[in-house]
Amino acid sequence: MSEAATLQIQVEHTQQSRLSQVDFNNLKFGQILSDHMLVAEYANGQWEDVRIVPYGDISISPSMSALHYGQAIFEGIKAYKFVDGTVSIFRPDKNHERFNKSAARLEMPEVPQEIFIDGLRKLIGLDHSWVPATPGASLYIRPFMFATEAALGVHPSNSYKFIIITGPVGSYYNKPLRVKVETHFTRAADGGVGFSKNAGNYALSLHPTKLAQQEGFDQLIWTDAKEHTYVEEAGTANLLFRVGDTIITPSADTILHGVTRRSIIEIARHWGYQAEERKVSVKELVDGIKDGSVTEAFAAGTAATLTPISEIGYKGQLYTLPDPAKREFSNKVLQYLNDLRYGRIADEFGWNFIV
Ligand SMILES: *Cc1c(COP(=O)(O)O)cnc(C)c1O
Repeated sequence: MSEAATLQIQVEHTQQSRLSQVDFNNLKFGQILSDHMLVAEYANGQWEDVRIVPYGDISISPSMSALHYGQAIFEGIKAYKFVDGTVSIFRPDKNHERFNKSAARLEMPEVPQEIFIDGLRKLIGLDHSWVPATPGASLYIRPFMFATEAALGVHPSNSYKFIIITGPVGSYYNKPLRVKVETHFTRAADGGVGFSKNAGNYALSLHPTKLAQQEGFDQLIWTDAKEHTYVEEAGTANLLFRVGDTIITPSADTILHGVTRRSIIEIARHWGYQAEERKVSVKELVDGIKDGSVTEAFAAGTAATLTPISEIGYKGQLYTLPDPAKREFSNKVLQYLNDLRYGRIADEFGWNFIV
């Protein structure tokens, strides 16, 4: 790429690290941000001014198009610290690929590897002391891009900002989830933007999720837009089920194809389980819970890794799954993923990006 020469990353170090103020034994998700952030500007058809600067506020125009027409996408990645202090990022190449797919669908520019991956490595290298060494904790990484053109006309913006911020997060409390199958609202339709990680997909989920929470559920299970017959995904995570020795996961163009979901499927196949990506109807699921053939159900995503589902509400009925503590596959794969990400076992798949 001819741009590479201009993609020198300038670094401005913070004058005052906030690291000593952080209580690493009491980390809440997304509330503490590391000392530095990476920022890049897109204008006149190319990326420029790539820099790592102290984390801080940015100035925006009230007519900035992302605020009005929603060209805004993001990613979620985690970095882990091994016992020997090595810092490793889990499969960021997959997030980079997905980020550019999200960008293309919203008519936004791709972010090249020199910025997304090399920039990320440099940023994490600089803030490596922010990667927690406490058990179960990690550094959450949030790359995002939004349209910055200051004009109210509806058209793809001619300028964009790409930023990566990071922050230490604690071990996610894996309280089993009670989820409700949503049969009225829709998250994504065929031909829409469900597969892209854009801000709007979250905005539209907030109201239906709140209603479900008022009924005592933790989360929703979204279903297909046409008939509300097929299971798609949970609010912020993908769904997987175990039927006999087969792991099944819904597949559709409308779901967000998670890196965690993909990794679990690859591990399952490696271990000799059958793994199927296909349509899964709500009926197949609730019938399977009733007759005992569906023995495990869980949500999978970067933030929570793997969270067991204990109960599923559907059309006023509650379906209860077997005790999460006794679930063989879920517990085994969660342990394996953790061992791999913290460098406690060999990285057979080549998923760890050592910083
Ligand atoms: C990010 C996300 C997921 C999980 O993807 P991972 O790559 O595993 O973190 C699932 N569903 C939605 C809607 C998401 O935004």
